[in-house]
Amino acid sequence: MGDVDVVVCGAGTIGLAVASMLAREGHRVAVLEADPAPAPPAAPDAWTDWGRRGVAQFRQPHNVFPRFRHLCDEDLPGVSTELAAAGFRVLNLLDAAPPSLTDHAPRSGDVRLEMLTGRRPVLEAVLAAHAEEQPGVTVRRGVRVTGLTAGSSAIPGVPHVDGVVTAGGERWSADLVIDAMGRRTPSDAWLADLGTVPPLRVAEDSGYAYYTRYYRGPLPEWRIGAVTPHGTVNILTLPADNDTWSVTVFCGSRDEPLKALRDPACFDRVVRGFPLQQHWIDAEVEPGVAVIAGVLDQTRSLVVDGTPVVTGFTTVGDAWACTNPSAGRGISVGLMHAHLLRDVLAEHAGAPAEFAREFPTRAQVQVAPYVDHQLRADRVRVAEMDALRRGVPVPPRDPDQAAFLAAAMEDPEVFRALLETVMCLALPDEVLARPHVAAAVEARRGTAPDPPPGPDREELLALVAG
Ligand SMILES: Cc1cc2nc3c(=O)[nH]c(=O)nc-3n(C[C@H](O)[C@H](O)[C@H](O)COP(=O)(O)OP(=O)(O)OC[C@H]3O[C@@H](n4cnc5c(N)ncnc54)[C@H](O)[C@@H]3O)c2cc1C
Repeated sequence: MGDVDVVVCGAGTIGLAVASMLAREGHRVAVLEADPAPAPPAAPDAWTDWGRRGVAQFRQPHNVFPRFRHLCDEDLPGVSTELAAAGFRVLNLLDAAPPSLTDHAPRSGDVRLEMLTGRRPVLEAVLAAHAEEQPGVTVRRGVRVTGLTAGSSAIPGVPHVDGVVTAGGERWSADLVIDAMGRRTPSDAWLADLGTVPPLRVAEDSGYAYYTRYYRGPLPEWRIGAVTPHGTVNILTLPADNDTWSVTVFCGSRDEPLKALRDPACFDRVVRGFPLQQHWIDAEVEPGVAVIAGVLDQTRSLVVDGTPVVTGFTTVGDAWACTNPSAGRGISVGLMHAHLLRDVLAEHAGAPAEFAREFPTRAQVQVAPYVDHQLRADRVRVAEMDALRRGVPVPPRDPDQAAFLAAAMEDPEVFRALLETVMCLALPDEVLARPHVAAAVEARRGTAPDPPPGPDREELLALVAG
């Protein structure tokens, strides 16, 4: 069992999850969170009663994929049950198969594709209650970390972190400080203050904007996939907890006319233009449209030219890598990263130099491919939407990907394989190596899926203009 004093900076989804995982290993974990408000005692109240200024996307739609559920069942026993008790519903995207897929017979293994779905504040309230119940976890809210303290180096010439300082002037010492401060983490500046080599940071605006409304009532039926690309927009219909769901229209953030989607009347007109999704908005609706843009794609590395820039300090979740959320993977990928952190710390507790080398190296092999896959897919889709908006030729699609998508729209095994890649259960190369999938994809080479029904660009702009 572990015997490490850990400070986790940030009590978001992944900060809370990693704290619970490490405490179960016997480590002592203090979680320091800048936002002062605790979660309400009844998790479903978090939607209305919990203010979280530190998480810009707090009230944006979130789904958590089966990979999240599998990891919870393995590493955070009880969380799936607690989510169900808070009103999360079980969702299988096989129920949202495209109309072109006519074989609906269940297959053994379909249960592996089941996910738990609910609103992000409710999820975070459950994770917070779970963390606070773990012996060995202390969660302190209203404590903003403002810098790092340095101790004796574990690698000559490389600064070693031995604690944090807070805005209130407290000092918390630690064998390991974990940055779980999300996509806007300030820790690069703190490392600069210690004189480290700058971490490698690659960041760009993902180029997406999201417009969302929330509904309540009996869940509408699926008539098309949960997320569907339609020319210059995408429509996401996402069931959530306690008889709620969201509908999101997302598009290029440079698409000026579509900025009118922030007007609820415009949003409704546009969604009504999509015949297979329009019924999702015939329900009790919350006022307003939730809007977010300027979402960063960002990766950071604390190993530069093969050498850690720091020991005693690491990153997890969005502070390590975050992508545009079109595929809704951040929490699942963050949990994979947290799981790996836990494992590497178990092997190298008390050996900060080894931990600082091993964790980023293994994350690069085991977790980063999911981030890279998402980044590539997003760039292709943004370029496509951009070209359609400007009326210039659309960049040619990756022929392998186009054939995979076309096959998935007709072949139930390939559709399941596609879901596995979307939901972080497998990487495309793994599923494309399966003989049946490879043959089905090969047979569709040179084809692309038929476009789903909906307005073309001109009709879309007419709907926007009203
Ligand atoms: C629009 C949008 C939609 C998304 N949809 C999905 C989805 O459908 N599915 C999915 O899996 N992911 C989704 N994501 C991604 C998901 O929100 C993140 O991956 C996830 O929140 C990462 O958790 P985290 O704990 O790493 O960081 P965060 O949840 O961002 O938490 C960071 C925490 O650090 C705290 N903090 C910051 N600075 C300090 C400081 N100095 N001292 C102490 N505390 C500090 C903050 O207050 C915050 O509580 C979405 C993201 C966006 C932007």
